Amino acid sequence: MRTLDLHRDVGAYALGVLDAADAFRFEDHLMECPSCALRLDGFGAVRTQLDAYARQTPAGVAPVAVAGQELLYRLLERADAVRGRRKTRR
Ligand SMILES: [Zn+2]
Repeated sequence: MRTLDLHRDVGAYALGVLDAADAFRFEDHLMECPSCALRLDGFGAVRTQLDAYARQTPAGVAPVAVAGQELLYRLLERADAVRGRRKTRR
């Protein structure tokens, strides 16, 4: 694998989606690449947020909501309610 490809794997490694062989190759590269080490630190907050999202998503619920009419209507109702509260305060 080329070094450029290894640099690109930092996000996948941070998210834990590399297979064992690719993770091993990336870890080998990581020991000698300060740029990837720095970028890996930057993914820490993203990983923390995704882990929290996964913990709070009930089992059996799709992790990504499919946008449909019901979701759109609920979002519009919520936006109207927020606008109404702002107008009331003024
Ligand atoms: Zn690198």
